This record gives sequence, structure tokens and C-alpha cells, in this order.
Amino acid sequence: MLGQMMKMPLLISSLIDHADNYHGETEIVSVETSGGISRSNWQTVAKRSRKLASALGKRGIKQGDCCGTIAWNNHRHLEIYFGVSGGGMICHTINPRLAPEQMAYVINHADDQVLFLEKTFLPFAVKLKEHLKGVKAIVLMSGRDEEAAAQLPGLLFHDELVDEGDDDYEWPALDENTASSLCFTSGTTGNPKGVLYSHRSTVLHSFCAALPDSINFSARDCILPVVPMFHVNAWGSPYAAAMVGAKLVMPGPGLDGPSLLSLIDTEKVTVALGVPTIWQGLLAAIKASDSKIESLTRSVVGGAACPESMMEAFREYGVDTLHAWGMTEMSPLGTINNLLQKHSDLPEAEKNKVRLSQGRPPFGCELRIVDEAGVVMPNDGTSQGDLQCRGHWILEDYFKTDIQALTEGWFSTGDVATIDEDGFMDIRDRTKDIIKSGGEWISTVELENIAVAHTGLASAAVIAAKHAKWDERPLLVAVKAEGADPSVEELLAFYEGKIPKWQVPDDVVFVESLPLGATGKVMKSKLREAHGDHLL
Ligand code: AMP
Repeated sequence: MLGQMMKMPLLISSLIDHADNYHGETEIVSVETSGGISRSNWQTVAKRSRKLASALGKRGIKQGDCCGTIAWNNHRHLEIYFGVSGGGMICHTINPRLAPEQMAYVINHADDQVLFLEKTFLPFAVKLKEHLKGVKAIVLMSGRDEEAAAQLPGLLFHDELVDEGDDDYEWPALDENTASSLCFTSGTTGNPKGVLYSHRSTVLHSFCAALPDSINFSARDCILPVVPMFHVNAWGSPYAAAMVGAKLVMPGPGLDGPSLLSLIDTEKVTVALGVPTIWQGLLAAIKASDSKIESLTRSVVGGAACPESMMEAFREYGVDTLHAWGMTEMSPLGTINNLLQKHSDLPEAEKNKVRLSQGRPPFGCELRIVDEAGVVMPNDGTSQGDLQCRGHWILEDYFKTDIQALTEGWFSTGDVATIDEDGFMDIRDRTKDIIKSGGEWISTVELENIAVAHTGLASAAVIAAKHAKWDERPLLVAVKAEGADPSVEELLAFYEGKIPKWQVPDDVVFVESLPLGATGKVMKSKLREAHGDHLL
């Protein structure tokens, strides 16, 4: 016999088993929805996950069935992640910020058999229950609550359900390509599209996230996933945390700056993950306090471009920003910014320039840019084209649709980017947001990054406004910072010397707030509807 290696399937249950066996006492800290903090550890989470899987089986939930969650980041959600997927069912995380009819749509489209939800969302379930066709059981993510029970006859309670499970339950031996979890894209146009992850893709993504040139998660880390568990599985951090046996701090519903700062300081968080808007709140809270966030070594920023001013603000506290890019369709990690050996001797200012881009793809994900005809463009740092990717944790087909997701084996991201000789990728824009001015492209991302560095602004977005001569011109839509009153001239002058003159926005419109979509991103389509004719 030639000899060969064992074939062990890559399963989510093996992640929690590992955390149980080798990091059992490592703490899981969780902010309860009802307030207060609960403390458990990987051993307890593992035990309760197994019991939950067992209890669901006893209640007739079968392998392949979807179980929906409308929930914050907390220990019960973690138990559902491992219990539902580990038991061979599909954990469908639902974004509570979707419109109620979209929530009902995704629940019915997934054919969710069970719905786990926080008390916050009980009114939604009461109101829509009769429209949720397949849902056999609704589980409140708490202990028994008589007040809630009175509102919804037949309501189950998470802790009681866990108690129904067998202590000696063993995880099923699944094929590693079995579906494990389901997440829908934000659905800014039309109904959201479902992305179905597998055990294999999830485990490989966890290996990727933990690599030193990715987030470098380890057993010495205390991880704070601020990014919600309903937004691409909190960027895979709960799975990666189990893989490396890190301490996890689950922030619950309060994602305001002061709450996060208090958690970081008391629990000695070393790495936190979130979108730029969240970090704005945290940085303001640090500024208003005596804290130096001493434990925090790195902040992972993704979901939208990280402005240079944010990286600088973190640097003042000794925190490295890891700028990452990805998508729901990519589990989500596609690139992350870490320096190469050849950058070691560069002056700090030069290093910081390299750190600005969205970074390089880790092993397991390949990137390329193509022109409008689909011809591959060079990685020269200046050619910009449609960004495509392929890899072990990237979508092949959307959930229950006939939409052709791939072109010649590559997934088109809908982003416009440049890639340089070393593979550093720079997102210039979403294809539908980029400004086409007189045949030239202007990146709204770049213009926004400059605008938010102005102390007179709280937030800003740049959109393509229709223009009689140039087709489209940049228009800055800005929200003033509290107590500040910058003028249009002052803001436009702020661009001088930072970008070519022809790229400077034509005008500024001040608004009270920017419209945000379900995942907290600015809805530029809404801004274009409102202000697209401003320059005509
Ligand atoms: P979602 O699937 O909701 O996570 O959205 C994915 C999209 O968010 C990407 O296609 C990008 O347009 C955008 N995005 C994510 N990360 C970044 C980043 N670091 N910089 C710029 N855009 C980003």
C-alpha cells in the first residue's frame, strides 16, 4: 500500500469540541439583553450546544432544516451557532434591521422551522406569526419569562429547551460539504439574496482568519466581535475563536462608544472587529474619558473603507488597525492589510501609506480585476477594473435562485479596485457608485475619506450628481459635527493639494443625517434620489 492520510471532515462541531477539550476554562463573557453580564466558558458553551442540538432533534427538527435567529451577540447566540450547525441543521442569522416584510420574506424563503429571538423582537413575532408559514417553534433567548409567555401562546424558552437535551448527545458525522449556515445580503434593491455556507468553507475560513498575516487570533487573545453575528457570522470570529481557544466578549445590544469602552477596559480585550461607524463612537468615548485602552492591540476595520484619520486616531493609543475587505458572499474575508518583510525598513510615514489599502488576499482566496469586456487587467497599482474573486469560502450559487453568480469560475464582487504588483488591493468604489465625469472615473471613497478628516463634519458621503456638461460630477453630502458650522467654501478648500483639482466636489449639501441600510452602510441610491439633480 502506498499509504495515505486520514480523511476527517472539516466540521463546525470539531471546532467546539477542540475548544471544549483544550480551552474549556477560557472565559466567554456576554452582555445579557436584559442588562448585566453573564460569564461562562468554552466547556459550558460546548455542553449547552450539544444539549441544544439534542433538544431540537427530540422536537422533530431534522438535519438540513433551517433555524432562524433574530439576535444580538451573546452566549445563547453562540450556543445556537454551534448547536444548530453542529447538529446538521442550518443556522440562519436574520438581520433585525431589515424591513418587517423582508424579514418575513427571508424566514419563509429559508423555510425556517424554528425561530430563536431576543425579547426585543417578540412584538415582531406576535405580529407576523401567522405569515411565518413553516415556523413550528418560537424560542425566546432567555430563561422562562411569564410576561413573554402571556404574549405568545406556545412560546419556548432557550434555557428550558437546552435542559430538554441529553447530556450524552454526540455530534453527527456529517459530510464536510453539508450546509451549516445561511446569511442574506442586505437587499438594498429587491429581495435579499441568500448565501449558504458549508462546514468545510467555515472551518477553512477560520484557519484563514487566524493566520498571522490575517487577524492573528490566538489563545492569548480576548476577542470582541462588535460586528453583529447576523452580519456574515460576525466575520467568522466566533468559529475562529473556538479554533484557537481565545476568550470571547459578546457585547449584546449596546454598541455605543461608552459601553464598548467599558467592556474593552474591564475584560482586557486585545482585538475588536467592527465597521468604521462603530469605531467613530468608540474613539469619541475614549477621547471623553481617561482611558488609554491599554489592552487593545488591534482593531479590525471592514465593511466600508477605513479613513486614514481613523487609523491615526487608533495609532495614538498604540492600536494597530487591520483594514480588511470582504463580502457576505465571501464568508467574508477577501483581503487584509499587513506589511511585508520588504517594508520593515521604511520610515513610519511610508509604512502608514501601505496600511491604507484594503490589503492582500490570504491563501485560499484569489483576486483579479477585469475591464468592461472581461479582459484581465494588470496588477500595476493604477489600472482599475471590476474586482473578481474565487476561493474556498466564496459563493458558487445563491440560495434557491437561478441567478448565475459566476463568470468563468469567478465571482464578480461589484467593486471597482486596483491591485498593485505585491497584491495590495485598493477599493475605489462600488461599480454603481463610482462617478463617471467626462469619461474619467472619480472614487467617492477617496473623497469621503478626506471629508471625514475635517473636524467640522460628523459624517459625509459623496455621490454622482447629474451634470449638463460632464455627465456626472461629485457632490458632497455632509452632516455637521455637533457645535460646528463649516462653510461650503471651507470644505471644498480642504481638498486642495490632496487630490487633482478636477476631482474636487462641485458643491456641498448639508443634511441632518445620512440614510443607513440594514448593515449600517450609507444608502447612496437614496442620496442620489434626493440630491442627484442638485447640479442641473
Ligand atoms: P456586505 O456583503 O454587506 O458585507 O458588503 C460587502 C461590500 O462592502 C463590499 O463589496 C464593498 O463594497 C464594501 N466593503 C467591505 N469592506 C470594505 C472596505 N474595507 N473598504 C471599502 N469597501 C468595503
